[in-house]
Amino acid sequence: MFKNESAAERLVKLVFPEKCISCGCALDSENRSEEPLLAQYFCEKCGSDVPRMTKRHKKATIPLVYDGSVKRAMLNLKFSSDISSVPFFSRELEREIRTTLYGEHFDILTCVPATKRSLAERGYNQSRLIAEGMKLDIETDFTLLRKNKVTQTQHLLDAEQRQKNIASAYEMNAGRNVSGKRILLVDDILTTGSTCDACALVLRLAGAKSVTAVCVAKAPDK
Ligand SMILES: [Zn+2]
Repeated sequence: MFKNESAAERLVKLVFPEKCISCGCALDSENRSEEPLLAQYFCEKCGSDVPRMTKRHKKATIPLVYDGSVKRAMLNLKFSSDISSVPFFSRELEREIRTTLYGEHFDILTCVPATKRSLAERGYNQSRLIAEGMKLDIETDFTLLRKNKVTQTQHLLDAEQRQKNIASAYEMNAGRNVSGKRILLVDDILTTGSTCDACALVLRLAGAKSVTAVCVAKAPDK
């Protein structure tokens, strides 16, 4: 009966029985999205506004656009302690990896780290939850990297200073060896790509052979 469902999906169903991950309305046979890939997660109205990427991005593999119902579901995850969207985001990212990166091999699956402060406030790192929800046959280490400080004054800096500021926030955790490893790096939302760039740089400097970034959603083009 639970065929093809991960433990995380079953847990989410127990805790959040059948509601739209965007607007939160109860899902039933009347109002559920008719799209087969969305029916489990969205009502008809929200399911009609799930924007997908239509072209490849040069910095990362990304299935969704951070807009409409995708944005609402992500905001619920980031700011309302509502993890019911995790199985949807994990499945979308996993599908994208299996198609776009078909044939590529990775040694370690990791994620962009959160600061201790945001972990304490939120209780989880949403990028890690999404990465953990994927059913890929790759060794995982979600504490490969750490983020040291909150980069709050970014808007006062020019582009170059901003990139340096971001890069200095990330470090390898002690005792990790990524020498010669091919890393698959998961992030939630791609805006400028500077977070992925910074993490990739740290991993490459530590000896990683390659770093491939995947993000759930990209901020829409202005
Ligand atoms: Zn809805």
